Amino acid sequence: MSARDIVVIGGGVVGISCARWLQRDGHHVRVLDPQAPGQGCSFGNAGVFAVDSIIPEATPHALRDAPAMLLSSTSPLRLVWRDLPRLAPWFTRFALQARPARVRAATACLAGLCAGAMEGYRAITADSPAAELMRHTGWAHVFERAATAEGARREMEERARHGWRVRWLDGAELHARIPGLRQDAAAAVELPDIWMCLNPARFVERLAADVAAAGGAVQQARVTGLRPNNGGVEVQTPGGAIHADHAVVAAGVHSEQLAAGLGDRLGLTAERGYHAMLDSGEGGPPMPIMSGEHKFVTTPMADGVRLAGTAEFARAERPPDPRRVRILLQRAGNLFPGLRTGSYTSWMGCRSTTPDSLPIIGRSAATPAVTYACGHQHLGLTLAGVTGRLVADDLAGRDPAVDLRPFRANRFRIFSG
Ligand SMILES: Cc1cc2nc3c(=O)[nH]c(=O)nc-3n(C[C@H](O)[C@H](O)[C@H](O)COP(=O)(O)OP(=O)(O)OC[C@H]3O[C@@H](n4cnc5c(N)ncnc54)[C@H](O)[C@@H]3O)c2cc1C
Repeated sequence: MSARDIVVIGGGVVGISCARWLQRDGHHVRVLDPQAPGQGCSFGNAGVFAVDSIIPEATPHALRDAPAMLLSSTSPLRLVWRDLPRLAPWFTRFALQARPARVRAATACLAGLCAGAMEGYRAITADSPAAELMRHTGWAHVFERAATAEGARREMEERARHGWRVRWLDGAELHARIPGLRQDAAAAVELPDIWMCLNPARFVERLAADVAAAGGAVQQARVTGLRPNNGGVEVQTPGGAIHADHAVVAAGVHSEQLAAGLGDRLGLTAERGYHAMLDSGEGGPPMPIMSGEHKFVTTPMADGVRLAGTAEFARAERPPDPRRVRILLQRAGNLFPGLRTGSYTSWMGCRSTTPDSLPIIGRSAATPAVTYACGHQHLGLTLAGVTGRLVADDLAGRDPAVDLRPFRANRFRIFSG
């Protein structure tokens, strides 16, 4: 295979993982991002390599629960109603994905990707200091009410069917495994196979340092457009155009604008999430804990406890809403009464989310010299390694480990007019 000049657009966990995999094939890689690596959505996630999270967001349950959640000011789901006209086509596609047959198909696709997720990291972290930030702790979903635990049973059985160990905990065992949890919590499910990341931003920084150490370039530049050019691609930046043999668009939620310039339609929306990073680790759990009722994660990280969650549908450019962080702090204080929630920093970031919860991994319809790697919704940290591997396999003409057709760009075009 001949070495190619490849520009990777976006220095988040997905773009950097793609860059590392492409370097393994001998390609010359240049990563462009207006920010330093890992400062986008990859900065503030909950740090869970959540390979068990194989159920898409659009399900009959989600549709049933959404109206009540949208009307509650403290629920984990929020819509900025002013943005509804713009979001309506996306919600329509989302609702269409909630049919049981579509849910089953999307679950199988996510399970296939997740099965290779940790392997996807092994090769690019083997000799990297990034590996020191990966820890095998397991994670758990905690239920304050027995009814919520009961409601989660089928979903947990689905995870078990795909090979992930699932252990239900209650009574004394529950509090022995998760010390600090409120005494009246009803139950928890522990998934002991799961790994976590001690500092997601530093993880990307270290992988980006590996890109540079292997002879790649990591440069601060905003890409303003892409144009097919002589079998390759012209990458436009304010500093001038760069000719590349190939470009990988991994610009998170901003990938849609770059795709639009080529005539592609990805179907992404900004699903905004928040975190509160507590200065203290005191009173926190020994592993990441997902609240079954309130859908946020409490993660013990290297520099304190992180509370992360919320699905807020609004334009990416809108300022963060500080009330979302206050809700996280209050909910976490109820769940772990010993947590020190007084001193913290807060953050908001945009997941790039497709209506079917499947990422976009595939070529542009406009030009085979452009590949998309975006739309990883709640699972970008989890799936970045395997995404990089699939992108590299596709460019090399190797058989990918999973069928890439369900992840193709333009799959929502038929509904988008
Ligand atoms: C609250 C929260 C909790 C989460 N928890 C988890 C979790 O526990 N596990 C998990 O797997 N995932 C989690 N996620 C999701 C995960 O963080 C994302 O899926 C992931 O970070 C996406 O990575 P990315 O590289 O695609 O995007 P980003 O990290 O957003 O990177 C995209 C990059 O592209 C750059 N860019 C944008 N436009 C341009 C341009 N025109 N030119 C050049 N560069 C450009 C941006 O500056 C940015 O650095 C969570 C997300 C949130 C919000």
